[in-house]
Amino acid sequence: MSNTILVTGSSRGIGRAIALRLAHDGFDIVLHCRQRREAAEAVAEQIRSLGRQVRILSFDVTDRDAARASIEQDIEEHGAYYGVVCNAGITADGAFPALSDSDWDGVINTGLNGFYNVVKPLTMPMVRRRKPGRIVVMSSVSGLMGNRGQVNYSAAKAGLIGAVKALAIELAKRRITVNAVAPGLIDTDMTEGLASEEALKMIPMQRTGTSEEVAAAVSFLCSADAGYVTRQVIAVNGGMC
Ligand code: NDP
Repeated sequence: MSNTILVTGSSRGIGRAIALRLAHDGFDIVLHCRQRREAAEAVAEQIRSLGRQVRILSFDVTDRDAARASIEQDIEEHGAYYGVVCNAGITADGAFPALSDSDWDGVINTGLNGFYNVVKPLTMPMVRRRKPGRIVVMSSVSGLMGNRGQVNYSAAKAGLIGAVKALAIELAKRRITVNAVAPGLIDTDMTEGLASEEALKMIPMQRTGTSEEVAAAVSFLCSADAGYVTRQVIAVNGGMC
């Protein structure tokens, strides 16, 4: 069996593009969805047509016990992963005084705690493989420079960068690289209606990015060629910062 990569939140958007790109690159894929099983099955079908093996895990990344049980069982049955792309994330935007407790908790629990809940159970098995490995985390331009109306999201995404930088040091000797990708404004469900003329003026390239352009950066970080790239944040943002 070839190297396997788990991609969280891969039934749609950027995660779907990443899963398809990595399958195209020759990896076997563990898709992950919360509810959209049918959409994930459709992505799985596309991956099978590329000649790669694929299976689907379903759990809410905020549910620590469910994430751990699902990942541990999958690893027990199929072996440790070569890599993980921690992509699942949400926004709940609003000016800070108007943010509700659930806006804050939901974004931090999904983005930051979701990273812990997913990466923790798979890290020791990855180390015990005694082979190179890859951990890629989806941050954001908001985590690099902060964004009005996104105090919660900027905190989660900046927190992920801190986690990446620390974990990369811990795993470097094991040949496991840990990096973040920080997209700008990418055309997905998450950003529907956000690409106003005013917003586009903030982007030197004056256009939104595509999920495939983000997937290309993830593909590089997961490749054997990126074996000496660790503890980095690769921005894919049309020059925003
Ligand atoms: P989408 O909203 O299109 O997709 C988000 C994905 O995350 C979905 O598959 C969703 O699953 C999954 N997800 C969300 N919450 C949970 C949860 N609690 N448990 C399990 N899965 C969950 O977003 P994008 O594709 O645009 O974003 C992907 C990542 O990229 C996110 O981390 C986002 O923050 C980041 N990003 C996006 C940018 C953009 O401009 N689009 C810019 C910068 C970063 P389900 O289908 O079940 O809801």
